[in-house]
Amino acid sequence: MKVLLAGGSGFIGSHLAEELVKREYEVTVLDNLSSGLRDNLKSIRDKITFIRGDVTEFKTVEQFDYVINFASNASRKEWERYPVEIALTNSLGSRNLIEIALKSKALYIYASSSEVYGDPTVIPTPEDYKGAVSTTGSRSAYDEGKRFGDALTKAYEREHGLKNIIIRFFNTYGPRMRGDDFYGRVVDRFVKQAIKGEPLTIYGDGSQTRSFTYVSDAVKAITLLMEKGETGAVYNVGSDHEIEILELAKLIKKTLSSNSDFNFMPLPEHDPKRRAADISKIRKLGYVPKVDLETGIKNMGYYIKNTEVKK
Ligand code: UDP
Repeated sequence: MKVLLAGGSGFIGSHLAEELVKREYEVTVLDNLSSGLRDNLKSIRDKITFIRGDVTEFKTVEQFDYVINFASNASRKEWERYPVEIALTNSLGSRNLIEIALKSKALYIYASSSEVYGDPTVIPTPEDYKGAVSTTGSRSAYDEGKRFGDALTKAYEREHGLKNIIIRFFNTYGPRMRGDDFYGRVVDRFVKQAIKGEPLTIYGDGSQTRSFTYVSDAVKAITLLMEKGETGAVYNVGSDHEIEILELAKLIKKTLSSNSDFNFMPLPEHDPKRRAADISKIRKLGYVPKVDLETGIKNMGYYIKNTEVKK
């Protein structure tokens, strides 16, 4: 089976590429390396086709069984700095990949996000929650980009019969996540700060919540949906275990035996107050997340000590 995986050099994308190669899919990765890294694919370099290119311009006559769209910068700092690129990747880039999927009669899988729900009033949030999102706020290029990506997928389904599955990822963490000062994703950033003995940078009073999924569980969910997901359906992939950011910081300190202090900083604009996924829909397909937060933090600590901090 042939897969076109856009954004396959990124954090989740590269873990998915490895799993697909293991399952003997023929994988073509398309990535412009705007936030993904070539190194993320080093273990499968000789087993895949890598194309450096942008989803908004990519052309091909090749046929695929799956077109998977993970292309898009996804961190707060990126959507503040590159909002135009992010909005266009999810609109023009989505159109381009959908057209390729249609020509191949492929299953189009769109990596959407819990950001489409904005700052939700229903927790845990189910797939049919309509969202509380600012169309003009600092997160809007990403939030509305993903909402448009969802809408375009459904438009092509209605008008052209596009086979599709939309996956809404909640906060996912694990090795290769980029949490340095520019990217700033919370688990990676706190783990690095804890290892270096630097203060953990808590935004606001740390009472905002998130729910975290280890990347191997996210990949398991994606392959499950590729094989058993209902065509035309939307699935949350995340966790229903909600934790306050301050509690997360304390857990990371304890798990990694760190003496770091806390440094409380201003809360960024439109930071969602609570976030947890209702995953009953994917659970019905047999999905059971395996890696608890403590184990995931330990794994990340090990990975970071042995790679990035060493450099
Ligand atoms: N956060 C924090 N300190 C940091 C980075 C993030 O307190 O150094 C908080 C952030 O305000 C948010 C949560 O952690 O409430 C998750 O942030 P992240 O950027 O990882 O993901 P998102 O906001 O997209 O859920």
